[in-house]
Amino acid sequence: MTTSAFDVIVIGEGIAGLTASNTLAKLGLSAATFEQQIFGGLVLNVNELDPAPPGGEAGGAAFAAEMTQANAEAGVTSIQEPVTALAAADGGFSVTTSGGSYRARQVIVASGASLKLLGVPGETEFEGRGVSKCADCDGPMFQNETVAVIGGGDSALQEAQVLTHYCGKVYIIHRGTAFSAQQRFIDQIQGNDKIETRFGTTVEAILGGQMVEKIRIKNGAGSEEIPCAGVFAYIGLKPNSDFLPADVKRDANGFVATGDALETSVSGLWAVGAVRSGCGGSLEDAMAEARRAAEAVAARLK
Ligand SMILES: Cc1cc2nc3c(=O)[nH]c(=O)nc-3n(C[C@H](O)[C@H](O)[C@H](O)COP(=O)(O)OP(=O)(O)OC[C@H]3O[C@@H](n4cnc5c(N)ncnc54)[C@H](O)[C@@H]3O)c2cc1C
Repeated sequence: MTTSAFDVIVIGEGIAGLTASNTLAKLGLSAATFEQQIFGGLVLNVNELDPAPPGGEAGGAAFAAEMTQANAEAGVTSIQEPVTALAAADGGFSVTTSGGSYRARQVIVASGASLKLLGVPGETEFEGRGVSKCADCDGPMFQNETVAVIGGGDSALQEAQVLTHYCGKVYIIHRGTAFSAQQRFIDQIQGNDKIETRFGTTVEAILGGQMVEKIRIKNGAGSEEIPCAGVFAYIGLKPNSDFLPADVKRDANGFVATGDALETSVSGLWAVGAVRSGCGGSLEDAMAEARRAAEAVAARLK
């Protein structure tokens, strides 16, 4: 079992984790990042970030790669292992991964969030056979076909707009009576005649044979089946916070609670970005928090 020690461990190599660790290294601290999948997090598959990060690449993968390269040059240690547990130990923290146990004086949790599932019949069964989470990667497979996007926030509207570059028709199915997205995204989709919106409507089931063929939706008028070849759900995020101990306070949805200074209920444990309760939601918000927490950690360790 490996045991290495760092000033600070950052959990997650999404944009928040990459930013925090870069700031720590520039402030002269030894920092390690841990990643369970691949660097980049939620924006890895977004071809055109909107808003684009200030001064960075407009594509999510290119932006994350640029930051990963900058981290390597700044001396951040990158460890590709999922964190499975962490505990306070000897005035610092012990971080357990699939590969070993590591020590740090302070820890920044930047483990982000994952897209929520609809939780309807057919969703898991048809994953990769019409059910997708990535408009940019899978959109080209639906040339001139009909697809359904579920949700009414920024991500749903952004991704619906992307899908119109490939698909003949895009339904937006939203359970609310109005979109919760920013007005500029609403304006974009309202000017797009490939998009048809159904408000006050939920998805009951995803149906098909080998591939998705239709969805059953329900609204005030009853149930109806809509033929479609693809289903993309952007109905919100659930936090990646299960590995944290029970004494780390969360909000009712499991997002990690912090004070204004971004420290959690456990001294020396900080949270930034999409995993944090109250994070603004954009890359810029996540990056600003990450910088702020890293600076606070550096000040604490002086
Ligand atoms: C579809 C979509 C499109 C978006 N488009 C834009 C946009 O155009 N512009 C914009 O400003 N914002 C956009 N956003 C918002 C943006 O994605 C988030 O603000 C940002 O990605 C949050 O970054 P993060 O690092 O906090 O979390 P994440 O991106 O979720 O990264 C967290 C990382 O931690 C890793 N991780 C999780 N648990 C563990 C563990 N136990 N051990 C190790 N690693 C772990 C994950 O694998 C992941 O790599 C979009 C969001 C979505 C869902």
